[in-house]
Amino acid sequence: MSWFFSGSQPKPTTATPGPAESPADVLISSAPPKKIIDINQPQTCKNKGCGKVFKEKDNHDIACSYHPGPAVFHDRIREEQDWKCCDIHVKEFEEFMGIPPCTKGWHNTDPVY
Ligand SMILES: [Zn+2]
Ligand SMILES: [Zn+2]
Repeated sequence: MSWFFSGSQPKPTTATPGPAESPADVLISSAPPKKIIDINQPQTCKNKGCGKVFKEKDNHDIACSYHPGPAVFHDRIREEQDWKCCDIHVKEFEEFMGIPPCTKGWHNTDPVY
C-alpha cells in the first residue's frame, strides 16, 4: 500500500432497492397512429347540389351528381340566382334548388372552390 491510495476509498454505491427498470414503462397504448379511412364509414359529400351521405366503397366516377359551381346570387335582384356552371337562370329559390346537377363525378368530402 502506498501513500497515494490512503484515505481515498471509493464510495460504496448504495443503490436504492426497487425496480429500476420496470417493464410497465414499455407498455404502449394501442391507439392508431394515423386516421385510416374506413370504406364503410358514412361520409358527407361536400359537392354543391349533392350533399349526400356516401360510403367510400360506393364512390365511383359517376357516383355524384353536382354543380361544380359556383352559385351566383344577384344582389340587386334577390330572387334571381343561378349556377355559373350551368346556363340556367331561375327566379324562384325552389326552382334554383331544383336545377338538376349538371356534372357527374366522384363524391368529395373536401369543399371545392
Ligand atoms: Zn351546374
Ligand atoms: Zn356527392
